[in-house]
Amino acid sequence: MSNYDITRHEYDVLVIGAGGAGLRATMGLAATGLNTACITKVFPTRSHTVAAQGGMSAALGNMGEDDWRWHMYDTVKGSDWLGDQDAIEYMCKNAMQAVIELEHFGVPFSRTEEGKIYQRPFGGMTTHFGEGTAQRTAAAADRTGHAILHTLYQQSLKHDAQFFIEYFAIDLLMDDDGVCRGALAWDLGTGTLHEFRAHAVILATGGYGRSYFSCTSAHTCTGDGNGMVLRAGLPLQDMEFVQFHPTGIYGAGCLITEGVRGEGGYLTNSEGERFMERYAPNAKDLASRDVVSRSMTIEIREGRGVGPNKDHIHLNLQHLGADVIHDRLPGIAESARIFAGVDVTKEPIPVLPTVHYNMGGIPTNYHGEVVTLADGDPDSVVQGLYAIGEAACVSVHGANRLGSNSLLDLIVFGRAVANRCGETIQPGQSHKPLPKGTLDALVGEFDRLRHADGDVSTAEIRGEMQQVMQNNAAVFRTGETLEEGCGKINEVAAKFERVKVSDRGLVWNSDLVETLELRNLLGNAVTTMVAAENRTESRGAHAREDYSDRDDDNWMKHTLIWMDEASKTKIDYRPVHMHTLTDEAEVIPPKARTY
Ligand SMILES: Cc1cc2nc3c(=O)[nH]c(=O)nc-3n(C[C@H](O)[C@H](O)[C@H](O)COP(=O)(O)OP(=O)(O)OC[C@H]3O[C@@H](n4cnc5c(N)ncnc54)[C@H](O)[C@@H]3O)c2cc1C
Repeated sequence: MSNYDITRHEYDVLVIGAGGAGLRATMGLAATGLNTACITKVFPTRSHTVAAQGGMSAALGNMGEDDWRWHMYDTVKGSDWLGDQDAIEYMCKNAMQAVIELEHFGVPFSRTEEGKIYQRPFGGMTTHFGEGTAQRTAAAADRTGHAILHTLYQQSLKHDAQFFIEYFAIDLLMDDDGVCRGALAWDLGTGTLHEFRAHAVILATGGYGRSYFSCTSAHTCTGDGNGMVLRAGLPLQDMEFVQFHPTGIYGAGCLITEGVRGEGGYLTNSEGERFMERYAPNAKDLASRDVVSRSMTIEIREGRGVGPNKDHIHLNLQHLGADVIHDRLPGIAESARIFAGVDVTKEPIPVLPTVHYNMGGIPTNYHGEVVTLADGDPDSVVQGLYAIGEAACVSVHGANRLGSNSLLDLIVFGRAVANRCGETIQPGQSHKPLPKGTLDALVGEFDRLRHADGDVSTAEIRGEMQQVMQNNAAVFRTGETLEEGCGKINEVAAKFERVKVSDRGLVWNSDLVETLELRNLLGNAVTTMVAAENRTESRGAHAREDYSDRDDDNWMKHTLIWMDEASKTKIDYRPVHMHTLTDEAEVIPPKARTY
C-alpha cells in the first residue's frame, strides 16, 4: 500500500499480549537468549490478569495434605471429561514449581502463621479423589493477579525483552505454506504501521467476554487473537463453552471472587435458604461454577430470587467478621461498597451469574503449539504459531474451568512455550521473504475499514451482538433459542459490511480500534453460537434443556470451527486426549458428576 510507510522489525520471537500468559512467555524467552518482542494494546500491567482476585491453584499441601494427582482428578472432573488428560497432567504436575518460582520472582503471597504460602479452598478442589476439601489456592489477599502481573513485568524488563506498548496487532502474516511468519501492528500513539517478522508468533491475547452484554472481563477482552486465527483460515476449538461466574455484582457485572465462598461465604434465596445444600449436598456453595450458576438461575426462575423484581441472589459474608474480611478480602469489600452500595460486614451482596471465562479458543498441544486438522491428523502443528492463556484451548479446562486454574494455566504454559521455542529456535536466523502481496492485502483491508462510510455505527452493531449473545447463548440453552441465535448473530455480523467509522485519523483513533475489535468479537460470537447449536448434549458450562444429559458416545470430542469472510462456518472434530503423559498418573475414566 503506497500511502502507508511501514516500519520493519525482525525478532526471533514475537509475543502478542502482555497479560499473565504473555509476560511469563516473554520473560522466559528473553532469559533463554532469544531476541524477543512483546506487543500489547494496553500497558502490560493494565491487562485483564490484573483483576484476578482469588488465586492460583497448586497442590503445595501447605494447609493440609495434597497431591497433584488429586488436582488432576478434580480438573478432569471439572472439565466434564472434555479436557485433554495429557495436558492436565502436565499442568497439575508443574503447578507447585510454578508457584514457588513466582514467589522467588517476588510475588508477595499471603502467609500462614508459620510463614508458608497461604492457600484457600476453591470450588471443585478436593482431596483423595473427591473425598475431602482441599486448600489448594495460593493467594496474595484478593489481589493475586495484580501481584503476579507486576512481578512478571519487572522480570521481563530485567531480561531485556523489547516492549511495544499501545501497539494494536491487526493480523498474522501467513505464507503460502500455512506457516506463520509475523504480524502486522498499528502503533496507536504515532499512527504508524509496523511489520514484525519472527520465527515464532505467540498469541496471548486473552478471552472474548465482551461479546456478551454482562461480563466480568475488561473492555479490552475482545478475542483479537481468535479473530486473527479465523482470518488466517484456521479453526477455533470448543467455542460453545462459556463460563458464567455465579457471583457478578447485580447490575454492574464486576466480579466477587469465589474466594469469598472459599473463606466461608454462602448464597441465599428470598426465603433466606442456603439453597446450594439442596443442589450439591457435599460441595454446597463450593460446587463448580457451572453447577452453582445453574442452581441460582433455577432459584430465580422458580420465583425465589431476591430484590423487588426477584431477579438476583444474595451472597452473605457478614458472619465472617470485619477482621477476616479486611485481612483476606479487602478488594471485595471495596467493590461491593462502590458498585452495590453495600457494607459487607453488615449486609449481603446482590449477585447474578455473569460471563466470566472462555474455555474455547485456539487449539494447541501442551507445548503451546497451535494445532489443526490437516490430512486427517487432528494434532497437526501449524508452523510458527503458538497460543497460550485464555486465548488458547490446550485443552486443560474442557467444558468448564475450575476457579484458580486459569492463573496456573497462564504460568505453566507461558513457561512451556518459552522452553519449546528455546529448544527449537536458533537465535539470529534470517527471515524468509514474504509472498508478494501478503502485506498489501492486510494493509488494504485496514485502509478500507479506516474509511468505512456505511450507515451503522460500531457501537450499534456491538450493542446488538451483545444482546443476542446474552439472550440466546445464556446459562440455559435450547435448540430453539440457539437456532434463533444463529439467525440473529449472522444478521448482526452481516451488518459489519455497513459499518461507519467517523474518525479517519491514525493517531489515537479509538473509533477505528473499536471497529477492529468488533470485527474480532463478531468472529468469536458467531462461532460460539453455531458451535452451541451444533452440540446436542449438556456438558460442563453448556447446558441444553432439550438435551439435558451428557452424551459420551456421540460427544466426547472437541468441536473445531472455521469461519470464512462471509461468516460462513464449517465444523469438524478432534478426539479428546484420553491418555496421560507419563506413568506417574492414571487416566481418569468418565463417570457421572456428583456433588
Ligand atoms: C475479574 C476476573 C477475576 C479473575 N480471577 C481469577 C482468579 O482468581 N484465578 C484464576 O485462575 N483466574 C481468574 N480469572 C481468569 C484469569 O484472570 C484470566 O483468564 C487470565 O488473566 C487471562 O490472562 P491472559 O494472559 O490470557 O490475557 P489478559 O490478561 O486478558 O491479557 C491479554 C493481553 O493481550 C493484549 N492484546 C489483546 N489483543 C491485542 C491486540 N490486538 N494487539 C496487541 N495486544 C493485544 C492485551 O493488551 C493484554 O496485554 C479472572 C478473570 C476475571 C475477568
